[in-house]
Amino acid sequence: MDDERLPIGSAVDVGVRVWPRPSVDHTAADSQVESDDEIASMGDTELVEGIERLRAEKQAIILAHNYQIPPIQDLADFVGDSLQLSQQAAAADARLIVFCGVHFMAETAAILCPEKKVLIPDVEAGCSLAATVTAEQVREWRRENPDGVVVSYVNTDAEVKAESDYCCTSSNAVDVVRSVPEGREILFLPDMFLGLFVERQSGRRLQLWLGECHVHAGIRPDDIGDLLDEHRDAHLLLHPECGCVSQCLYALGEGDLPADRTFVLSTGGMVRHGRECSAGHDYVGTETGLLHRLRTENPDKEFIPLREDAICEYMKKITLPKLYRSLRDEVEQVVVPEPIATRARVAIDRMMKVPAL
Ligand code: SF4
Repeated sequence: MDDERLPIGSAVDVGVRVWPRPSVDHTAADSQVESDDEIASMGDTELVEGIERLRAEKQAIILAHNYQIPPIQDLADFVGDSLQLSQQAAAADARLIVFCGVHFMAETAAILCPEKKVLIPDVEAGCSLAATVTAEQVREWRRENPDGVVVSYVNTDAEVKAESDYCCTSSNAVDVVRSVPEGREILFLPDMFLGLFVERQSGRRLQLWLGECHVHAGIRPDDIGDLLDEHRDAHLLLHPECGCVSQCLYALGEGDLPADRTFVLSTGGMVRHGRECSAGHDYVGTETGLLHRLRTENPDKEFIPLREDAICEYMKKITLPKLYRSLRDEVEQVVVPEPIATRARVAIDRMMKVPAL
């Protein structure tokens, strides 16, 4: 790990490192639905009807992340961000949970609900951010910093969570960091942009792992430009993983962005903002899947993506044919080995106890 400590809340451009990104060009689940005669004969209407039937027959619930494609969001029992979906999974009165999201999310549900069967329609739906850190790298970071407290963003594999003291989501990261006893060194991973945001908001100095989500890191200050000057009734909503957040916070401090119209929010926070705020336009800096929900819930408002190409190919691996197959065949089950789950649960439980904003 490079020792690149960054001043609290400074306007820095840490640049975009090139991390190996898991490929999902054509997954095993893609092949399986393509070669499945029943599924190949079904259109979207039949698939949705079949999913509804199987969900009832099998006492299943379908959880969908805010970045899922519209047809999946529309039929899900619950749509939300990582923390909300974890809470729903833990509270669910169901035998089967079909998790329409990426793999680390289904793992978190499996850790929280060991008595339930947790399925993911495409087990290769990974995450470029989670792929930037391994459990061995966390162990090594700890060896270098034996007094450090490891705070992991929930976008990590179960093995990484098992090496962590605390988990957090973007909606409660600042409060989780504040809950760490004063004076303790904090090792924050894996998202550097979220880490910079948390450092600034909490006032705590963090050691940062320099990982990033390729989708959010790609949202840069140039994408904002002078949008807020052009549209005086518009609000700017930014996810803290975005590559422009540090500069925007600096610009806010300098008065170059209006403080009353600029918001750094989790996806759950953006949904709430959409409902509660009367601005006519919101510029949305996150994965474009969220726009479906924002527009559906707020038909009188206009939501404009900061980047049309902010699309997570991992989230989009979940499709109606794969969801149908997942329910019909009860595949792919996500199981976290109990020794790892037991350790990861400690960090996740701490995350669940800190209220989300
Ligand atoms: S949007 Fe980024 S952080 Fe979220 S699942 Fe996709 S790659 Fe991972």
